[in-house]
Amino acid sequence: MNSHLGIGMTSQRTRDRLIERLREKGITNEAVLEVMRRTPRHIFVDEALATRAYEDTALPIGSGQTISQPYIVARMTEVLLGAGSPQRVLEVGTGCGYQTAILAQLVEKVFTVERIAPLLQRARNLLYELRLSNVRYQHSDGNWGWQAHAPYDGIIVTAAPQNVPPELLGQLGDGGRLVIPTGGQGQIQRLRLITRQGDEFNETLLESVSFVPLVQGDIS
Ligand code: SAH
Repeated sequence: MNSHLGIGMTSQRTRDRLIERLREKGITNEAVLEVMRRTPRHIFVDEALATRAYEDTALPIGSGQTISQPYIVARMTEVLLGAGSPQRVLEVGTGCGYQTAILAQLVEKVFTVERIAPLLQRARNLLYELRLSNVRYQHSDGNWGWQAHAPYDGIIVTAAPQNVPPELLGQLGDGGRLVIPTGGQGQIQRLRLITRQGDEFNETLLESVSFVPLVQGDIS
């Protein structure tokens, strides 16, 4: 338990420095910055990596997956929120649950889907420890979204498919926002914002990114 307490490289000063970096890189949403300032990222990574948790870099979380770089988490969250505050958000790719924890403090309800069961279980435990209770978890293939709770005001995908899965478009509510990286491994991936107005979908291309693939098919 003591290892979770903020000491040394995981101190508040170290976290504040990360927030300054995010500002310098262009993140302007104060609510996002504040939530990232107070959320302990080091508890989401392996203890051996905890001292690096407040560097602006992706880190391994086991099962061949990574915790996203803080800048990317901030940027995707900022884009997802837009000018408003969505109430119901679907997250595809729970991973270690860090992005989930940030979202849970900014929107009313988060529905998160992960294909690797042990990662999902760990994320669930960590968010419980952080007393974030407005999150629902599902072990499944996120290419299919989570139909039972659709429509969503926002959908965020934290792994890259080759193309946008049509089911996700179908589960986006009117006025909703979908933030998703697309492109294969070793190719240039682009982050996209897709907004829905009625039956019309508009797309804005954002920066180049590098995500693990959104796996097609079975779950493990
Ligand atoms: N948001 C996470 C990033 C995790 S990396 C974080 O903050 O740590 C991407 C995650 O997407 C991995 O955990 C991977 O297992 C998951 N993933 C990949 N393909 C998936 C699929 N088809 N359905 C659900 N999750 C998937």
